Amino acid sequence: TEAHIKATEAKRALNAFITETPDMARDQAKESDARRQAGKAGALDGIPLGIKDLFCTKGVLTSAASHILDGFTPQYESTVTANLKAAGAVSLGKLNLDEFAMGSSNLTSYYGGAVNPWTKTSDPSAKLVPGGSSGGSAAAVAARMVMGATGTDTGGSIRQPAAFCGITGIKPTYGRCSRWGVVAFASSLDQPGPMARTVEDCALLLGAMAGHDPKDSTSAPVAVPNFAAALTGDIRGLKVGIPQEYRPDGLNAEVSQAWEQGIQWLKDAGATPVEISLPHTKYALPVYYIVAPAEASSNLARYDGVRFGLRVPGTSLDDMYKKTRAAGFGKEVRRRIMIGTYVLSAGYYDAYYAKAQKVRRLIAEDFTKAFQTVDVILTPTAPSAAFGMTETTDDPVTMWLNDVFTIPTSLAGLPGLSLPVGLNSDGLPLGLQLIGRPFDEETLFKVAGVME
Ligand code: GLN
Repeated sequence: TEAHIKATEAKRALNAFITETPDMARDQAKESDARRQAGKAGALDGIPLGIKDLFCTKGVLTSAASHILDGFTPQYESTVTANLKAAGAVSLGKLNLDEFAMGSSNLTSYYGGAVNPWTKTSDPSAKLVPGGSSGGSAAAVAARMVMGATGTDTGGSIRQPAAFCGITGIKPTYGRCSRWGVVAFASSLDQPGPMARTVEDCALLLGAMAGHDPKDSTSAPVAVPNFAAALTGDIRGLKVGIPQEYRPDGLNAEVSQAWEQGIQWLKDAGATPVEISLPHTKYALPVYYIVAPAEASSNLARYDGVRFGLRVPGTSLDDMYKKTRAAGFGKEVRRRIMIGTYVLSAGYYDAYYAKAQKVRRLIAEDFTKAFQTVDVILTPTAPSAAFGMTETTDDPVTMWLNDVFTIPTSLAGLPGLSLPVGLNSDGLPLGLQLIGRPFDEETLFKVAGVME
């Protein structure tokens, strides 16, 4: 713990943390020592972790990287972080993210973006984004400030930053980890998961985080297997789906090569690649950008200046609401609230929201059909390696395209794991994504273990 506290202090320039809690960490580490001496160590005893600042943590500031939650200190602990604590984990603090988890770069954080610890060989001085929204988590793990971190993934927010920072991350099946106490973005998509250096570390962390929680009605009453035990190294006979729709014209050549390399590794280990089709993939992005903002606009209605964080005084109650929300929400969040309220409005509900829900079902059915013939699906995680912090355009659609490979999985509620598979010619990590059947994270860990 002490070594990791030092690392967080030495690497503050990465802006990975929003709130550091070194004293709390030291106390937890001491308790952990005592438990170990008493022979009562938990699965994660003494392991220093970082927590994405979207998880409510009792007595510790929780910001969702938004101005509107200024000074908000929860009275309670999220189930996932409570589970980690119960397993003995130590928390070094709260990690940076895109505001309310809306973004793919960390640049929408009110506290400024976290910085990717990796740099290009061609231009080592250029600062790169760590991806998002769990960018602070990915940067902190990659920079060895923590041994693991929590993330949340709504449309790619664990997998894409894991790929950009050369680490492993898994978005579990929707319902595997409780959402209770996690600041809500899009409730039918949000799912907490672990980010760490190795597949095995992710398996151990997920084992501690997961489990049925009566406080979240969408938490699944399924048993938590010993995920680490799935890492047998034996994938002989497994069928690996390669979706043709994930090979768009103009796919980055190095991303494509990494994918071919991954397919070859699996073949060498005795698995069989199978071409599959997920025909509704092309609708995933438009569907996501209707469903996610719709749910966000509803979830974010609670930030009204009365109950949480920021309040900007006004001449009347309505005026106070307006002023608080105008000052408290950043540009991307406001854009999503506008889109969401539009697609849910009486005149447009059927044309947009109801239609998107139908297409979402078709996207999910594509996967159900594919999994009748294959055991796991392999794709790239993101269409490129990490990009520069100043390279980003002002065009939101270009930014949204970062999640083309991760969003279909989210809409279908399936588990998706990203693991690093090598560096591109500019020295930056590239990731591949494994997608599995519902609640079959074990196959993802097993296959990823072979590719590591
Ligand atoms: N980048 C996507 C978005 O901006 C996904 C974010 C997420 O998974 N939280 O909505």
